Amino acid sequence: MFRLETDRTLIEAFRPRDRRVIEMPSGVTFPFFVRDYLAWTETSGARVYLVFSAPGSRKPIGIIFRRSSQDASVRTAQMCDWCHSYGSSSEVGLLTTDVNSKRRVGVLLCVDLRCKEKLEDAADRTGRHPIESLKQLQERMFRFAHEALGFETQPAA
Ligand SMILES: [Zn+2]
Repeated sequence: MFRLETDRTLIEAFRPRDRRVIEMPSGVTFPFFVRDYLAWTETSGARVYLVFSAPGSRKPIGIIFRRSSQDASVRTAQMCDWCHSYGSSSEVGLLTTDVNSKRRVGVLLCVDLRCKEKLEDAADRTGRHPIESLKQLQERMFRFAHEALGFETQPAA
């Protein structure tokens, strides 16, 4: 759990290159407590925002993903890299984010980033507690942020 003190704390979770173009989530008032992560989709539907914290850290990390155009010809179910649930191409698809001005990375994810709900549903169905799978989700999010985008758990010294 971490706390977003003000809208500024939220904006500063994102990399400087992303900060000019942020559409704030609706219904969020500050200070705002985030239990697992915060995800919201732009009204245009073109971009998805994620704010989470690294395991053992309270420093928020923000990532903006772009949705790639849906390929309606893809009929096979795809698997989300983070929560491992399967979905059609309208549910699980390629989300991309800029590494820098020259390079983008993509990852197959639930396009609305509702991974948490899916893990909780799955845990409910099997009678398990979702805490372990939510922890793995957080680790996978951070691994992506760290390996693909260079986020660190603490600000660089
Ligand atoms: Zn997912």
